[in-house]
Amino acid sequence: KSTLYVVATPIGNLEDLTVRAEKILKQVDIICCEDTRHSARLMESIGCRTQLISLHEHNEREKSQYIVDKLRAGESIALVSDAGTPLISDPGYVLVNKVVEAGLTVVPVPGVSAVITALSVAGLPTDRWYFEGFLPNKGSARLKRMEQLKGATETLIFYESSHRIEASMADAVTAFGAERPVVIARELTKTFETLLRGSAQEVLERVRADSNQQKGEFVVMVGGAQPVEQGDEDSRAFLLADELKALM
Ligand code: SAM
Repeated sequence: KSTLYVVATPIGNLEDLTVRAEKILKQVDIICCEDTRHSARLMESIGCRTQLISLHEHNEREKSQYIVDKLRAGESIALVSDAGTPLISDPGYVLVNKVVEAGLTVVPVPGVSAVITALSVAGLPTDRWYFEGFLPNKGSARLKRMEQLKGATETLIFYESSHRIEASMADAVTAFGAERPVVIARELTKTFETLLRGSAQEVLERVRADSNQQKGEFVVMVGGAQPVEQGDEDSRAFLLADELKALM
């Protein structure tokens, strides 16, 4: 009681809902979700009749106070998003922050997230990685952000939508260079799950050549830059100059 559970839900395949998630969703007094109609389908599939209320980016501030009051009154509440783990490029931060500040309990009920799912099969280094989430929508801002990231030696991970995948891949070729390794994970855990691996240029060409490769949901991963050798002052200075230019 008086607990907020942050519950991960599937990103495609409904069988990826954990046994514990199902149990908690059925036990709590209220489930906060982004879109009640969307989450109603998942709840129906598991026979969960818990009341659903909406919490999305436009009402998160006012709803959070309401939920904190409910928790204080002894109710237990689950937070889910449309897919995957709440707060990961999804609403929930404002609520969790308010609940923590109120001294109430937050319990994670972990499960799938597209970023980890994609990384686990990419074949790119996983020891260090950087999650950017969604890039800016506008082409100029997107390219600028990629250019700021081009010197990073970590594997870079982006979320992308079908409207922008082609333009985004074209920007990746410009920013990271045609030869940089790129992996696109599309429609993970769904019927048309596809992994495209190759150089940035090869992957761009495959996306351009087949309009099916532009449909659905995408995680784009870019291999990190080659680390600058110690003592290689010329290339280090070169990299720094590039980074500075990108920041301007
Ligand atoms: N909270 C979610 C998570 O934990 O992964 C992410 C929500 S964000 C609004 C949606 C984005 O996640 C999509 O545009 C796509 O980039 C990525 N995504 C979600 N499901 C995916 C899937 N099945 N395959 C590939 N990417 C997916």
